[in-house]
Amino acid sequence: MKINCTCGNIIVDQTDYLKNKGYLISDTQWFDFWNDIDNAIEKSGESKKEKEEACMQLRNQNIFKTLWECTSCGKLYIDDKNGNLISYTSDKNDYNGILDTK
Ligand SMILES: [Zn+2]
Repeated sequence: MKINCTCGNIIVDQTDYLKNKGYLISDTQWFDFWNDIDNAIEKSGESKKEKEEACMQLRNQNIFKTLWECTSCGKLYIDDKNGNLISYTSDKNDYNGILDTK
């Protein structure tokens, strides 16, 4: 995937572990997500298959939105619920590295 930022930079998403890519979850889903993790750990059953199924259910929830930060101007691009990109401009108009945790 490539995003043509309005600053002229191209955001390339063709691999994992990108420093300028992240995932966003709403507050309305945050606590349910952690409760689902607790349940998967505590109540999924004893067998390896039951644990794998519980993990797959968590992964298939599709509750996270994807976002990218332009490494040139800092603009954020976030997928909306229809898969369209919505952009938000940084006041600094510079890369902030807000998703880079290292
Ligand atoms: Zn940009």
